[in-house]
Amino acid sequence: MGTFVVTGSASGMGAATAGRLQDEGHTVIDVDLHEAGIQADLSTPQGRADALTGIKAATGGRLDGVAAVAGLGAHLDDPARVLAVNYFAPVALLEGLRRELAVSGAGRVVVISSNSASTVPLIDEELVRIVLSGDEKAALERAGGRHIQLPDEITESAPSITAYASSKLALSLWVRRTTVTEDWARAGILLNAVAPGAVLTPLMRASTGRDAEPDPDNFPTPMPLGHFGDPEDIAFWAHQFLRPEARFTTGSVLYVDGGTDAAMRPEGY
Ligand code: NAD
Repeated sequence: MGTFVVTGSASGMGAATAGRLQDEGHTVIDVDLHEAGIQADLSTPQGRADALTGIKAATGGRLDGVAAVAGLGAHLDDPARVLAVNYFAPVALLEGLRRELAVSGAGRVVVISSNSASTVPLIDEELVRIVLSGDEKAALERAGGRHIQLPDEITESAPSITAYASSKLALSLWVRRTTVTEDWARAGILLNAVAPGAVLTPLMRASTGRDAEPDPDNFPTPMPLGHFGDPEDIAFWAHQFLRPEARFTTGSVLYVDGGTDAAMRPEGY
C-alpha cells in the first residue's frame, strides 16, 4: 500500500479523493485549514513551509503520490488570496516534495485546475506571465490591482474571477511545462491536471448563492448533460491518475465538466 498526500481533504473533491485512497488501504496524509492531520494555511509561504515539514515527517522520505486539491472560488472578494491558494500553494508543495516522489520511482501527481482556464474570457495574460515567472509578490500585487474590467453583474457574484481563471490557467501550464523536465520525467514522476466544471461542493454553493438550488438548465455556463457534477465524479479521475498503472499519461489536462468546455469551444480542444 502507498502513501499519498491530499490537500483540501476536509471538504468536497479533496475529501472524496482521500476517501477513495483510504478505501483502497493507502495511507493518506491529509492537509487542510481545519479537520486534517496537518492543519496549515496554504495561502502563505510560512503555512506551506509548516505543511511541508509535517508531510516530510509523516512520509519517512518516500511518497507515492500527491493530489493537490485545496482551492478557493471566484466568489471570494480577495483575488490575491485566491491566486496564492490556487497556484502558489500547489506549486510550492509539489516542488518541495519532488525528492520524496522520486524515491518511489513511480510518483504520481494530480492537481485540480478548472475549465475556467479555457471558458472564462476574463483572463489577465500579464498576470499569468508573472505567476509563471514565480514572482509571488509581484503576482499577488497585480491580482489585487484588478487590471481587467469586469461587467457589473460579475463584479458582484464573482469579484475574483480574473484571479481565479488566471490561477487555474497558470496551474495547467505549470503542469505541462514541468512534467517534461528531466527532474520530473526521468524520475518517473507523472503530473496531470483535472479541469472540473460545475461540481456541487461547498465552494460551488457559495459561488452560486446559498438560497436557491442551482439549476443546470439556467446556469451561466452550458451544462449539456443536464446535471452538475458530484465530488465523486472528480475523485474518480483524480484517483486514476494516482494509480501506478497510469504510467504513460503525463502533462494531460482532463476536462471533467459534463460537456461545458466542448459546448463553449466546439472548434478547440
Ligand atoms: P471545497 O470548498 O469543498 O474544498 C476546498 C478545500 O480547500 C476546503 O476543505 C478548504 O478548507 C481548503 N482550503 C481552502 N483554502 C485553504 C488554505 N488557505 N489552506 C489550506 N486549505 C485550504 O471546494 P471544492 O469544490 O471541492 O474545490 C476543490 C478544488 O476544485 C479547488 O481547487 C477548486 O478551485 C476546484 N474547482 C472547483 C469547482 C466546483 O465547481 N466546485 C470547479 C472547478 C474547479
